[in-house]
Amino acid sequence: LDSEYQTVRLAVLGAPGVGKSSIVRQFVMQQFLEEYVPTEQRQVFCPAVIINEHLYEVRIIDCPYIPYFPVNSLYEWTDFRGYGLRNATAYVLVYDITSEESFEYIKSLRLQILESRNCHDVPIFVVGNKHDLADERGVPRREVREVANMVKKQWKCGYIECSAKYNWHIMLLFKELMKTVDYIDYGH
Ligand code: GDP
Repeated sequence: LDSEYQTVRLAVLGAPGVGKSSIVRQFVMQQFLEEYVPTEQRQVFCPAVIINEHLYEVRIIDCPYIPYFPVNSLYEWTDFRGYGLRNATAYVLVYDITSEESFEYIKSLRLQILESRNCHDVPIFVVGNKHDLADERGVPRREVREVANMVKKQWKCGYIECSAKYNWHIMLLFKELMKTVDYIDYGH
């Protein structure tokens, strides 16, 4: 195995309670907690992992809630700087597929990222978490599919649904994400 590894900086963002920390915890520690422990300070995890036969050091920045500010406002700009998010390799935008509000939140985050980076080729990867609750809460499959199609076709972003609770599609999420990152990095 090639000992050279690539450092990838991932910023995980989304509304409170959508499961950002749970996704990171499953990926890094194979653990899931039922109780909700809000992330108060930015947390950084740096696992070395082999994904798609490449060795990566993945710096995962699990961010606390960033309140919504209108795009281009001074507040929003300083927030992104404060969290060291502007030089992320990729942004992982997590929403809860049973919460329309949490999707509205990532819509606004996406605009803020595009504005503050002033470029459109930064990888944004959208994750629909809590797949296990969709049936239970009666979310029509059609609606979930519409969101997925919109993200893929209009935003031209990677998209995956997962369940941090059942460790379903968590590894796949990172595999797909790395494909997007490599694609942008090497411009294939
Ligand atoms: P964060 O604020 O986005 O970091 O959210 P957390 O990771 O702290 O999760 C918030 C709550 O949702 C916790 O009670 C978790 O146990 C729960 N949760 C996270 N992921 C899932 C999931 O995939 N399915 C279900 N049913 N609950 C989840």
